[in-house]
Amino acid sequence: MSVRKVHLAFDGAVVAEVPETPIGELPNLIEKARKASRAMADLTRDQRASILFEASRRMLAGKNDLARVIALESGKPIREAKAEVDRAASTLWFSGEEAHRLAGDEIPMDAAALGKGRTGYTLRQPLGIVAAITPFNFPLNLAMHKVGPAIAAGNTVLLKPASLTPLSSMHAASIFAQAGLPQDALQVLIGAGGEVGEALGKAPEVRMISFTGSAAVGMGLAAKAGMKRVTLELGNNSAVLVLEDADLDAAAAACVAGAYGNSGQSCISVQRVYVAAPVMNAFVERLVAGARALKIAHPLEEDTDISSLIHEDEALRVQSWIGEAVREGAALLTGGGRSMATLQPTVLSNVSKSSKLHRDEVFGPVAGVNSFQTLEEAIAMANDSRYGLQAGVFTNNLKAAWRCAREIEAGGVLINDASAFRVDQMPYGGFKDSGMGKEGPRYAIESMTETKLVSWRLH
Ligand code: NAP
Repeated sequence: MSVRKVHLAFDGAVVAEVPETPIGELPNLIEKARKASRAMADLTRDQRASILFEASRRMLAGKNDLARVIALESGKPIREAKAEVDRAASTLWFSGEEAHRLAGDEIPMDAAALGKGRTGYTLRQPLGIVAAITPFNFPLNLAMHKVGPAIAAGNTVLLKPASLTPLSSMHAASIFAQAGLPQDALQVLIGAGGEVGEALGKAPEVRMISFTGSAAVGMGLAAKAGMKRVTLELGNNSAVLVLEDADLDAAAAACVAGAYGNSGQSCISVQRVYVAAPVMNAFVERLVAGARALKIAHPLEEDTDISSLIHEDEALRVQSWIGEAVREGAALLTGGGRSMATLQPTVLSNVSKSSKLHRDEVFGPVAGVNSFQTLEEAIAMANDSRYGLQAGVFTNNLKAAWRCAREIEAGGVLINDASAFRVDQMPYGGFKDSGMGKEGPRYAIESMTETKLVSWRLH
């Protein structure tokens, strides 16, 4: 059996070795999942909710250990890793609440003349086996956004975490076993996306692929999915608008947290900031000061703000994008320096539309700030993207906020928050190339159940 080494990119230390799932084992694992589907479907809503509540409690009880695992495998600062455990526990709790609420509808059959004498209703039934494929950047919470709703709906889950960050998922699976989940209802598969992920995508027994990751991989999976349900949570190059009347201190603080949290490796990280020309300098001053104040250190130190990206190759890529933007006319106002996988928080201004930093998803600690003259221009700049996951708008002008909410092409528009804000029960999912379908337990459960009509003819 081959073994996969898990590294901390900040210093290259090996933090764990995990056995890979042999690809030949997959049919066997799918058969186990199929058998477990029966046990899952037989659980009452209350039993599913109880398992989810218990897993949530256990996750919180083991918060410090689990946070350490997240920090070591992903390079995320320990403070952020603890916050991720809190959020994952709340994702499971919300999923448990949704298990209690899971219900169909009464169908007014006799609203049609032909329906006279019939009573109809819908049942919400589990799909069976759900494949969950997850990325490295929130290795626990993004997995729980699939596992929680799938269990609440009565499905079994084959979970394939990112190869670089398998440990959080393995810990979560053992928490679920202790919380009373039926055997084999959650199995974690460790292996390369191109092999294990592809095989899950092709397996006819898998009824749904719930994918979070890059647009290229997600679109490839969807293209081959045939009759499987597919949910895609993909990338973004999020825009934030700062209008002339905005509270600049609040806007800059939110942009610092949103651009540099987890070294910018969030799908809703602040990447493109558009600022009303009269307040551009005052805003940039605040943003640069905020970026410079962040402490770069080992992820296990409690006061670390920035540790490293997931891999040195990623830091090199982001650095090359910064170089390209500067060659194309951008001003580098702070940052840009690199040590191994660690990149300094970076602010640029006047980023050209042709730069990758404008067009693509940077997935690193970089914010590019440009100024605008009119609201129309600002909205057009925000929408000048193949992506549309979330956007932020800072203003106290009701009319302007209303217009932004209606006209910005994104799955979420946050007034007086940066794009990076999320609570786990809200509907979350992108427009355009940012994805298909929504997460948030209530919304994910809809896609993880079949609706069956039952009609009774009474005489
Ligand atoms: P990624 O390279 O697309 O990988 C995501 C997952 O897909 C991993 O488990 C990966 O496995 C697997 N995979 C790779 N190739 C595959 C294939 N051919 N078939 C099936 N599975 C395959 O993404 P990442 O670098 O881990 O994560 C960063 C991306 O995720 C960014 O674009 C970010 O915006 C996006 N993201 C989106 C959201 C959202 O909710 N919208 C949230 C977080 C992140 P391996 O690791 O083994 O390659």
